[in-house]
Amino acid sequence: MEEVVTRKLLESCHKAAEHNNMIWVCGGAANVGRIAYEVGVLLTDMDKGRMCCTSAIGAGSKAHAEIALKAMRNIVINGCGNRCASKILEGVGARIDYEVILSNYIQKIATLDVLEREVKIVAKKIIDEVRL
Ligand code: SF4
Repeated sequence: MEEVVTRKLLESCHKAAEHNNMIWVCGGAANVGRIAYEVGVLLTDMDKGRMCCTSAIGAGSKAHAEIALKAMRNIVINGCGNRCASKILEGVGARIDYEVILSNYIQKIATLDVLEREVKIVAKKIIDEVRL
């Protein structure tokens, strides 16, 4: 990890959900899970949306479920066909406006080493398809 010199402060997810694209990622422990996470970070850094805590909804946080329920748009990035992030949102009845399953495009392998190129390709695909 690169040393962070300055930190970009983000709007709270509660506020962002009223006018922004909320990004939910699985963050699983495989290459595709990590790519999902890194794409969420990149899209947030590019001000294309705001990544929020998917696992908090899975853990039963009502506050986080409310964010998904009131979001302008929910963009969900799953590492593989298990669709963990999508299932978490579906579990609280949240609308999914766009969903991607990365293993349909990138082979799922047991590594956490990912390429910056892979992250950028997936981010561009989502930007183009959702018209962010
Ligand atoms: S969707 Fe696949 S990669 Fe992501 S957390 Fe679930 S099993 Fe892991």
